[in-house]
Amino acid sequence: MELEKDLLAVLQKPIKDATNTQLYNAINAYVKEKAAKLPTVEGNKKLYYISAEFLIGRQLGKNLINLGLYDACKALLEKNGKSITEVEEVEKEPSLGNGGLGRLAACFLDSIATLGYAGDGVGLNYHFGLFRQQFKNNKQYEIPDAWLDGENMLRDTKVSFPISLAGKTYYSHMYDLDIIGYHGNKNTLHLFDLDTVDASIITDSINFDKTNIAKNLTLFLYPDDSDDDGRKLRVYQQYFMVSNAAQLILKEEKEKGHDLHDLAKHVAIQINDTHPSMVIPELIRLLILEGIPMKEAANIVSETCAYTNHTILAEALEKWPQEYLIEVVPQLMPVIEGLDYVVNTAFHGDKQLSIMDDENRVHMAKMDMHFSHSINGVAALHTEILKHQELKPFYDIYPDKFNNKTNGITFRRWIMHCNPELANLLDETIGDAWRKDETKLEDLLSHYDDETFLANAESIKHKNKIRFASMIKKTQNIDIDPNSIVDIQIKRMHEYKRQQMNALWLIHKYLAIKNGNIPQRPITVVFGGKAAPAYYQAKCVIHLILCLQQLINHDTDVNPYLKVVMIENYNIAKAEIAIPAADISEQISLASKEASGTGNMKFMLNGALTLGTNDGANVEIKDLVGEENIYTFGKLSDEVIHLYNTNSYHAEDFYNNSPLIHEAVDFITSKALITLGDKKMLTDLQDNLIHKDWFMTLLDLEEYCTIKEKVLNDYENRDWWKRKSLVNIAKAGFFSSDRTIREYNKDIWHLK
Ligand SMILES: *Cc1c(COP(=O)(O)O)cnc(C)c1O
Repeated sequence: MELEKDLLAVLQKPIKDATNTQLYNAINAYVKEKAAKLPTVEGNKKLYYISAEFLIGRQLGKNLINLGLYDACKALLEKNGKSITEVEEVEKEPSLGNGGLGRLAACFLDSIATLGYAGDGVGLNYHFGLFRQQFKNNKQYEIPDAWLDGENMLRDTKVSFPISLAGKTYYSHMYDLDIIGYHGNKNTLHLFDLDTVDASIITDSINFDKTNIAKNLTLFLYPDDSDDDGRKLRVYQQYFMVSNAAQLILKEEKEKGHDLHDLAKHVAIQINDTHPSMVIPELIRLLILEGIPMKEAANIVSETCAYTNHTILAEALEKWPQEYLIEVVPQLMPVIEGLDYVVNTAFHGDKQLSIMDDENRVHMAKMDMHFSHSINGVAALHTEILKHQELKPFYDIYPDKFNNKTNGITFRRWIMHCNPELANLLDETIGDAWRKDETKLEDLLSHYDDETFLANAESIKHKNKIRFASMIKKTQNIDIDPNSIVDIQIKRMHEYKRQQMNALWLIHKYLAIKNGNIPQRPITVVFGGKAAPAYYQAKCVIHLILCLQQLINHDTDVNPYLKVVMIENYNIAKAEIAIPAADISEQISLASKEASGTGNMKFMLNGALTLGTNDGANVEIKDLVGEENIYTFGKLSDEVIHLYNTNSYHAEDFYNNSPLIHEAVDFITSKALITLGDKKMLTDLQDNLIHKDWFMTLLDLEEYCTIKEKVLNDYENRDWWKRKSLVNIAKAGFFSSDRTIREYNKDIWHLK
């Protein structure tokens, strides 16, 4: 066999005698060579997907799957007493993103290559991705996460561009990563870097000199923006990214012999959130230097660019002080001022629409909306809220620009790689056409009463729970029962996602068991997620969960029935082990706040039932599976928006009027917890919940407790539950990122 021959040639020893690292290096080299021979997608028009984040995760397993080599490689290793999983674990996970937004970009690249569209990603080659999370004293600590040591999939290139930052010229260095499509072609992710970056400026934890641009520019993903220097560094990073992108695009266009006046015919640019927004003025600036008049350049760029909005949380819509831009990118200011002038002239100085506000801040999203041809939200509800609430003034003037593109996930990673047994069972049951055509998953509906399928799916779920339990035992030394109901909430820690509501339910359940209310079956409650280093409230929630983990897991009255696990350093590799083990998918954000979510889709595809609010893509999950196959609760987005607009939510009323809420909130500062934790953090959390609770935890808590009890009871009706799970899998096809990308192409990019 070719693979075996090639590996032996690299290893210079029998496979059985090689270490996992040697095997990883050899297989990775083999994959790189294979990728080099794949045809690059060509087309008359090419997409550039610009994003500050690409949370690509480990590449080896996914690449082997897409090359059609995974099973052969696994068998070859097994024959020699080796495990492909252990070999994959050698690879350091590139954490070049925070969460959903970066993971979406990675799923999109996979789908774009798979569908044979010409489309590259453009981003930054951070030397340290998102920090590694460590728990000590029931608190989060942040450790720099170096991922570039050792072998990886990056290819060095000779491509370099001059980039002017604060009047000084720096020369970039482009690294390429092959994006291999499923049984098809390849595209490229271009990651830009600076050779002078120097990790020795890191002082302790993830702190470093934020003013030394030559040494720090691409050192960290999104450095802490809680101070001025941190915020300014983001501007440096963003301009570095988009100037490289713009120069790369123009270089490739010239090489193809295209006239730059025809840019929009040959190039589509997707601006992923506001981080790459400066590509608009930068491209206009470069086109002016090529001799195209400003007005025409602005039209060309608008026809080329499209903007994706990812959130309605105000703090995420970036506004940069003009003085930062004057200092860091003075060359862009005349262009931005020119664009603002155009807007003010057209709309008679309407301040709601101006790019620059009265405090001399530049609103990146407003610039995007005026000077791109498409504005999309990421789930149906989110897009409606954008049109009729958050971005209403823009919808009023540009109704045709607005469109929805509900997010998706790549099935190559989120079932084929993470749950191969379920994928194989689907093949046996409905054939393997679903692997290339996600709509075929619906064929599973005709197996609604197929006892063989239902029993096999249940036994796979059980095996996945054993795999998850053994990972938790190995990494955190916590014992969990594979016969328990596994209830999981894994995602970034944020108040709007309301992990604190789940923690309050946990207190409620703990106290009930203490009072002799024994559950019918043990329950394992799983949390996981990182808090931004400067986000104190989120760190308080982690602290509460870790204190509860210690209290509950050591309480012998309770621990036979209830266990708590807060997964340390939640990342893609851990998600891939946790999600296939889940029975219940917790998606409990405050309605209107979660733009889409993609974790919800991963759980559904792996047969978990959603317990969630009517928020983001949960709404579409409910439409697809029907009321009886999902558990939803809580106030609707319209009601929540009304509460905000009228300032009429008062957490204190809920605390005072509900004995259940009162008891659970009081317990946060009970003696039992204070002895395990930090009194100040627990008290601050409790005070916040009673007196502020900006994301309305207490509003939905009672309803949440009621419905969760129903979910746990329903689980005991096994025949029914297994069928609900089947319907969720069958209906998950809609959430393939292949479907999302086809829609982007049809409505926005028009690549082929
Ligand atoms: C999918 C994913 C996310 C996004 O999860 P949400 O529940 O949609 O917020 C975040 N982090 C990782 C590692 C993921 O795989």
